[in-house]
Amino acid sequence: MTPLPEPIAQQIVAWLGSGEIDLFIGYEAGTVPLHATPAFIRKAGEVSRLIWDATCETNLAAYLKNLRGQKVGLMVKGCDARAIVGLMQERQWRREEVRLVGVNCPGVVDRLAVAERLGIGVEEIESASLEGDRVRVGDITLAIQDVLYPMCRTCTMRKPVLYDVLMGPEFQGSPQGDPFAHVREMEALSTDERWACFTAEVARCTLCLACRNACPLCYCTQCFVERTQPAWFTPTTAPEDVQFYQVVRTFHLAGRCVGCGACTRACPVGIDLRLFLDKLRLDALELFGYEAGVSVEARPPLTTYREDDPNDFIL
Ligand code: SF4
Ligand code: SF4
Ligand code: SF4
Repeated sequence: MTPLPEPIAQQIVAWLGSGEIDLFIGYEAGTVPLHATPAFIRKAGEVSRLIWDATCETNLAAYLKNLRGQKVGLMVKGCDARAIVGLMQERQWRREEVRLVGVNCPGVVDRLAVAERLGIGVEEIESASLEGDRVRVGDITLAIQDVLYPMCRTCTMRKPVLYDVLMGPEFQGSPQGDPFAHVREMEALSTDERWACFTAEVARCTLCLACRNACPLCYCTQCFVERTQPAWFTPTTAPEDVQFYQVVRTFHLAGRCVGCGACTRACPVGIDLRLFLDKLRLDALELFGYEAGVSVEARPPLTTYREDDPNDFIL
């Protein structure tokens, strides 16, 4: 648990004091081991609660959907800032409406990976701490790099693309492996095998909608899931309803998903949503040369047209 550097804390105090922001969203120590809690700071005297370390996993940009019209500041990792770029491309927020503390991100710790390494259930981790580049659980320490979330191990954009002030040393390591290796494995399967893979993975879905709620880019004020006129499906956990939800949500994120992993981390039953979302991210990259959340000025593939666009899907 590391307090914010003094100059950063002072900047947040100054923003609150000048009225540039009414609310700053960062992280504070929580009650769950290895998981910092989002902190909502409205007064200068509360800024000392803020921390930053490799347990700060929540993509705070997801809160912006409920804060339209307010003056907000927040802490952003590389992937969080990319989500904000997406919101700005889609005219949800203007750059001048938010103040950003960017953090050069070392990656965030996956509690499940820690538990797996220790051969215990995640609920058995009663207390843990970070010590430099290691995680301590009881008498055992593990290298943080060995227990990062999968998307962090292969991350190529740890430095935020947008910020007002930046903190932390730039990451000096290299991405560990191909970020799309899991997608390429699935692509090698036959159509029937892919369908079997998809239906087996989503069969556990309870339609709790935590994945939608955690996603900064799922911001519709009325989601198709909740519409009754027309009703797109019956919200039960029947296989066809679950599959319909997953397919529609995934395609709503086509060319928009920034790969932050917030949806997968939010899933209480451990469905690996990255598999489907990363397939569309890879398609956007390979078919249209597009990566979401890199530039506010860029035109997402679904909003533009090029003479040389691949048109294989048109009969
Ligand atoms: S995906 Fe990249 S920027 Fe996002 S938390 Fe992981 S390492 Fe940090
Ligand atoms: S769909 Fe998931 S990985 Fe993609 S931006 Fe939303 S929360 Fe992040
Ligand atoms: S968080 Fe998991 S269980 Fe809940 S709706 Fe999403 S995929 Fe289904």
